[in-house]
Amino acid sequence: VHKGKSKEEILKIRKDNLIPGLLTFYKDPVYVHQGHMQYLWDTSGKRYLDLFAGIVTVSVGHCHPKVTAAAEEQMRKLWHTTNIYLHPQIHDYAEKLTSKLPGKLKIVYLTNSGSEANDLALFMARLYTGVFDAVSLRNGYHGASPYMMGVTAISSWRYNTPTGFGIQQAMNPDVFRGPWGGAHCRDSPGQTIRPCDCPEGTCQACDNYVDQLDDVLKHSLPKDKCGAFFAESIQGVGGAVQLPKDYLKKAYELVRARGGVCISDEVQTGFGRLGSHYWGFEAAGVVPDMVTMAKGMGNGYPMGAVVTTPEIAAVMGKALHFNTFGGNPVASAVGSAVLDVIDEDGTQAISADVGTYFLEELVKLRDEYEVVGDVRGKGLMIGVEMVKDKASRKPLPAEDMSAIWEDTKDMGVLFGKGGLYGNCFRIKPPMCITRADTDFAIGVMRAALDNYTKGKSV
Ligand code: PMP
Repeated sequence: VHKGKSKEEILKIRKDNLIPGLLTFYKDPVYVHQGHMQYLWDTSGKRYLDLFAGIVTVSVGHCHPKVTAAAEEQMRKLWHTTNIYLHPQIHDYAEKLTSKLPGKLKIVYLTNSGSEANDLALFMARLYTGVFDAVSLRNGYHGASPYMMGVTAISSWRYNTPTGFGIQQAMNPDVFRGPWGGAHCRDSPGQTIRPCDCPEGTCQACDNYVDQLDDVLKHSLPKDKCGAFFAESIQGVGGAVQLPKDYLKKAYELVRARGGVCISDEVQTGFGRLGSHYWGFEAAGVVPDMVTMAKGMGNGYPMGAVVTTPEIAAVMGKALHFNTFGGNPVASAVGSAVLDVIDEDGTQAISADVGTYFLEELVKLRDEYEVVGDVRGKGLMIGVEMVKDKASRKPLPAEDMSAIWEDTKDMGVLFGKGGLYGNCFRIKPPMCITRADTDFAIGVMRAALDNYTKGKSV
């Protein structure tokens, strides 16, 4: 039972004492009180199915008992020493985490957030290559620090200050909204809405996007050299945009030919979320030189990391570099428990099974409703792009999107929202969700679409 402040009091404090840039979901925001696994309860006791997981952060379930117990146990023993002394947790965790990564990806630098991890990755890449210039993809999100604001290429997250010097953006290889089609080149069950014009298997979309990246590398970077290339294997904030098959493989070849370091941002796609693989880059068939991660690695506990090769990491031996909280005993104990739970609870298999089921059910909605333009994703990293109509693919106007979305919330399901035009439902729940939860969510989505179509909710 909630005995604290009322929603009105909380909203007043939010207005008076918190920064205005703070995003508040829903016209009548949910006042969350408690969480357990895939569910949240508000202060009135109403239960919600959480399909957004604190923005793809609660990986194995809200307050998962094993992760909570690991945190509690460590907090009773030792919260903090900084890593100037030896303590077992960071070492156990580094060993366990790197056992999940392929090849030479064996050196971990622990941070407290994804932005910090990406900052550090860019910093290391610049030191290692001696080249300042880097490339990221339009519509990519990599953080909100001053450096990362320049790497992130979505205008709503950018301020008019000098940020991210030396970053160029390549065209977003978006096969739904981009000019070259190619939706059938996505590694995703049953996604094609309008196959591109070329016969299956001969699609040019991927190569056209790769050529565009090549053009940026050749003509926008000084002396044809590249320091780093950033990409998510499926864009998260950008609306679960899947890159065409083989795009990353070809992009990595181009970047490496210019001496660049390839960085895979796994902040959303890592830890089994894609179902078929533990890391998103594995699903894309590449091995990066650096992997950055955060969010799901702590199941909600703030932590992040860069993992790289010994050769690249060696650049950090040239001076001291310090992070007070990175890899602290509690974070390391939590991170370790999360890795165990992913194995023990079979969360990757759940992502594959329930995620695929979810996608298949959403495809039925796409085929039924004119405003459901695209269904995409892999495992439990799903996007549904809403359109005015299927022929034009114009984004569904914000107020219409909002009407459907608010309705789903009122019926007890919290969908995420995002994409360049704010017209994508983002489905990235805790990876303990069931098929029954999916049936409920699909029922709610269907009801909201019916209400919208009948003009009831607008
Ligand atoms: N990379 C990606 C792919 C993200 O989605 C985010 C956060 N939305 C970040 C980096 C930044 O992480 P943080 O908010 O922990 O700094």
